[in-house]
Amino acid sequence: MINLILFGPPGSGKGTQAQRLVEKYDIAHWSTGDMFRFELSNHTELGQLAKSYMDKGQLVPDEVTISMLKKRMESGKATNGFILDGFPRNIVQAQALDALLEEKNLKITALLSLEVDEEELINRLLNRGKVSGRADDINEEIIRRRLQVYKEETTPVYNYYAEKQLAVQVNGMGTIDEIFEELCLLIDDRYTTQFVY
Ligand code: AMP
Repeated sequence: MINLILFGPPGSGKGTQAQRLVEKYDIAHWSTGDMFRFELSNHTELGQLAKSYMDKGQLVPDEVTISMLKKRMESGKATNGFILDGFPRNIVQAQALDALLEEKNLKITALLSLEVDEEELINRLLNRGKVSGRADDINEEIIRRRLQVYKEETTPVYNYYAEKQLAVQVNGMGTIDEIFEELCLLIDDRYTTQFVY
């Protein structure tokens, strides 16, 4: 199984790369942001609650996020593995994920971190906002707030996995094809290494 965490700030290309990786490796795609947007478009109570945080560029409370992901992991099929995209976003979530995976006797293969300059991120998000109309991508102040939350709460997650020798940095500034190729090389290498030893 290939069990990946695709890591990086908002606008680093996690969603785009995850879609391609999911196709290539035939694994499940679990994006907590997409799950919240799905709830929102279905006008559920969870969607309304999430919106009140998303619109401000804040994280949705851990309890809500973790139980939503847990449900999805338990009901979804992931025979060949999965990609987590946008989760975990803080240490509490990383610890909850450890517990969830342990219950199922699963392990993370690698955390792949897409590295992109801040100004590039802001430009990408503003451009995405123009196309998608995503409320949290339209306003520069909210974008900066999300990047701040990422720095303060999410970057420690990288170290959490680095200590377990699972974290790898990837240059996220190239073309979509170049980044995809790099990610595939890393995954194939990790997977083979894990397989052999
Ligand atoms: P994303 O599409 O991953 O950028 O997520 C959009 C928004 O959904 C974030 O700004 C948060 O408000 C919320 N969100 C997504 N994933 C999480 C998470 N793991 N924990 C808390 N909030 C999240």
